[in-house]
Amino acid sequence: MLDSYGRNITYLRLSVTELCNMRCRYCMPEDGICKKQHEEMLTQEEMILAVKAAVSLGISKLRITGGEPLVKPNILSICREASSIDGLREICLTTNGALLPSLALPLKDAGVQRLNISLDTLNAEKFRYITRNGDLNQVLTGIDAALSAGFDKIKINTVLIGGFNDAEIPALADLTRQIPVDVRFIELMPMTRQDAFGPEAFLPFTVVNEKLPELSPVKADGGVARLYRLPGAKGNIGLISPVSAHFCTDCNRLRITADGKIKPCLHSSDEISIKGLSYPDMIETIRDAILAKPKWHGELSYTARSHANRNMNQIGG
Ligand code: SAM
Ligand code: SF4
Repeated sequence: MLDSYGRNITYLRLSVTELCNMRCRYCMPEDGICKKQHEEMLTQEEMILAVKAAVSLGISKLRITGGEPLVKPNILSICREASSIDGLREICLTTNGALLPSLALPLKDAGVQRLNISLDTLNAEKFRYITRNGDLNQVLTGIDAALSAGFDKIKINTVLIGGFNDAEIPALADLTRQIPVDVRFIELMPMTRQDAFGPEAFLPFTVVNEKLPELSPVKADGGVARLYRLPGAKGNIGLISPVSAHFCTDCNRLRITADGKIKPCLHSSDEISIKGLSYPDMIETIRDAILAKPKWHGELSYTARSHANRNMNQIGG
């Protein structure tokens, strides 16, 4: 379905939980989150109904996200049900990877086609620092498990953080030579309540081109990333610039949070509830949300922060 600015909205990001087994400094507070009442969250039935309603309006790609989707006890059942919805062409999932050693194969069997795995550093101590509790080894084992389970086109997502991982850009990019994955560098977004980083942490994507002059451009695949390749690499390098060069004009996304709010725009505080709605009402509400998508999210910078009014774990990225 086209929104009010002629953009075809085909991509739904469904957050299935706000909870997470990590505590990334740019994403959520150290003490976790104020756990919401069970009744406030979408049930599995409501999630599936919402996906069906969105598909009836032209959504063809679903990304399951969180919080950490793999801590959700019924995640396999959600994926299985979603994958049986007629009209969905692609089901992807974004994860921190820690639980992939045991879940990669079951996810594949449940119909998940593509995985994005977040990884900001290859240094175990730095990994523990940025995630506040994470174990790098689990994630690296998880990436291996995903490859062994037969996932292809795996994307490793790295948030660029000045003073933290800029010196590691070549090593992270080199993963595309070692294993068949894409590595995507994403600019750190200045979320409303996240003040763990000073202005120096916000690097433009061009820092990657500066660090890797041997990158050659690759034809874009219709996604939001500018694509490049290292000589001899098995996968691409993607550069994603939500801050320095926004892609609102091509935005095809809709987001549904785990507590049942449609967010027409990631960086706006506007939210429309679908909790408790009947199927016909869900369709109408999702239609209204698509029509309510703003033209763009406005300036984003260290001082002009996101208006999302939520931490990223409560939106899904
Ligand atoms: N837990 C899963 C994971 O980490 O992949 C899925 C949810 S997480 C919120 C989705 C993505 O958002 C991750 O790749 C994470 O790095 C990214 N993210 C979180 N906060 C961010 C921020 N302030 N700026 C840019 N990316 C962010
Ligand atoms: Fe958890 Fe993902 Fe947020 Fe890290 S980025 S705290 S893994 S939800």
